[in-house]
Amino acid sequence: MECPYCGYTKSKVTDKRSSDSSVRRRRECLNAKCKKRFTTYERIEKGDLYVIKKDGRREKFNIEKLETGIERAFEKRPVSQEEIQKMIQEVEEQIRKRGKKEIKTSVIGDLVSKKIKRLDKVAYIRFASVYRDFEDIQDFKEAIREV
Ligand SMILES: [Zn+2]
Repeated sequence: MECPYCGYTKSKVTDKRSSDSSVRRRRECLNAKCKKRFTTYERIEKGDLYVIKKDGRREKFNIEKLETGIERAFEKRPVSQEEIQKMIQEVEEQIRKRGKKEIKTSVIGDLVSKKIKRLDKVAYIRFASVYRDFEDIQDFKEAIREV
């Protein structure tokens, strides 16, 4: 996202509000000489992405739902809102960039788990126990041991 003042391409998200059809993000330019704040709006393309659940059911991809799960995993953990928001944004971008109309929940779960693991091990276990169901018991044991 380019800064409208200096054209710098890196910014951080300081606040995010979503409605049904758009996402409004407050950003701060990361150019040390600029640091201006600006707002971006992104339209949500509805119905363009479906999530395939384990039992084969299809459901519209909903970042809010995922966000709730992620935020719950980080409850009372020493990770800033900013870091969490940045991660959620990356996840969404990565999923949309695939350019496919469908994605399996397990693929999303893996992607998010990896990112959470880098930020906080406890949050990772909380998240993974819900979303990944720890298909592999060994995985779970290893995760516990790492904490
Ligand atoms: Zn700037």
